[in-house]
This record gives sequence, structure tokens and C-alpha cells, in this order.
Amino acid sequence: MLADYHVHTRRCGHAEGETRAYVEEAIAAGLVELGFADHLPLVRDWRPGFSMLPDEMCAYVAEIKELADEYAADIVILAGIEADYYEEAEDEVRELLAAQPFDYVIGSVHTLSDGLGFDQRRQRRRFAAAGVDRVFLENYRLLARVAGSGLCDVVGHLDLPKKYGHQPADAAAVGEAARGTLQAVRAAGIAIELNTAGWRAPAGQAYPAAGLLAEAAAAGIPLIFGSDAHRPGEVGDGFPRAAALARGAGYTHTLRMSDRSLVELP
Ligand code: ZN
Ligand code: FE
Ligand code: FE
Ligand code: ZN
Repeated sequence: MLADYHVHTRRCGHAEGETRAYVEEAIAAGLVELGFADHLPLVRDWRPGFSMLPDEMCAYVAEIKELADEYAADIVILAGIEADYYEEAEDEVRELLAAQPFDYVIGSVHTLSDGLGFDQRRQRRRFAAAGVDRVFLENYRLLARVAGSGLCDVVGHLDLPKKYGHQPADAAAVGEAARGTLQAVRAAGIAIELNTAGWRAPAGQAYPAAGLLAEAAAAGIPLIFGSDAHRPGEVGDGFPRAAALARGAGYTHTLRMSDRSLVELP
């Protein structure tokens, strides 16, 4: 009985389908909980098509709370958010988050401090110029700061820089940085997600990869599942495979966000 806690809506400008259609997919897939985690407005350099605007947040939360009431007999629906972390604008992110009664926050890094959006196809050339290892190292450094910031309940897609198939040359140094992130997550008492979108990307691997997931399991870090659906048909995508991956990595339980209890994996 799994739950999907990372689902977007059309409000971000790059997802499709009615919000209600995501709910109906989740029910059809037999999920026990569905958590929306659409993109928090970008505090730096907002552009259309990347996230909702601050004045759309109330309507976003209201729509989800209404659906939660309407479908209460069938599924638990939560109003979460995926917040981009900006090292230089932590206070602005904090203010945006405090303005709404979000059920939980996924803290993510998609953009480095120099503006490199490493998960965007159109920035691939800039990614290559920046150096693959440097991008991975910077990703983990920022994620450790996300974890320590107190802004989030879950750290999102740990090894997202691999999205287009990049792998670090100095695996030892990058692995060390990743372990630093896990230590920060553990110290903060927060969770990580097993994000299945990587199986739909050139990476061909979930985020995080099996090795890092095993280290997180060994560290006792709670785990949630997320499809990162940007269309209704992606809700719960790859979850049986993800549950098997988690089991293989040493996880026996998953975190339920509605009451923060640990429930046994299927
Ligand atoms: Zn998105
Ligand atoms: Fe993300
Ligand atoms: Fe996402
Ligand atoms: Zn995401």
C-alpha cells in the first residue's frame, strides 16, 4: 500500500491534465495517499513555465483541500510543495513557505548558485562546460544546506545531475559529498524520496541510485516514494519496481506523511 508524495499540477506551467485526474489515477492505482508537491514560486529569476506565481499559491492549496474533502472516502490527499533552494535567498523561500498551510515540503535543487539549471535539456551545453563533477559536488553541498535549513521535511531527488546520463569521473569524491548530504539529512531528522522519474529520463535510474539508497537505509533515514508526475498517467509510475529497489537497499518501512508513521513496505 504505497503513497505518491511528489505530483505536480498544471499550475507550474509545464504539467498537463486536471488536478482531479491525478487524484483519479491515484485511486485507480490503489495508492493510499496522494501528495501534491508542485513547484513553489521561484524566488530568483521567475520565468513562465517553471512554477506558479506567489499569488496563485492560495488557489493551489484551496483546490487540493477541496479535492481532499471530496475524495476523503477513497484516498488521503495532502497539499505539499516542492521548494527550490536558493542559498542566497533562504529567507525569501522561508517567507513563501510560511504563507501557506502546506502539509509538507520537499526541498530540491535544480539550479546552482550561478544559475545553471542542470536538469534542463536546453542547458546541457552549459552543464558540460561547468564540469560534471563540479555540478554533482555543488548539488550535494546545496542539498546538505537544504537539509540543515529547517525548511523541508523531505530532500528531493538526491542525484538529479545524472538526469541526462552524466556520471562523475571522481566517484570517490562525489560519493563522499553524497554521504555528507545524508549525514545532514539524518542530523535534521528528515526523509529522502525515492523518485521514479529517473526511470523515464535518459539516466534510466531512479533518484537516488541503488548504492546511495543503501547508504541512506543503513543511516536509518526515512523514505517516501514520489513519481514526480507531470501528467496524470505518471502517478504511481514505477512503484512496484521502486518498492523492490527499496527492499533490496535494506529498507523495510516507508514514511507515511499524513501521520508521520512508518509502515511496512509491500
Ligand atoms: Zn516540474
Ligand atoms: Fe524537482
Ligand atoms: Fe518535481
Ligand atoms: Zn522534481
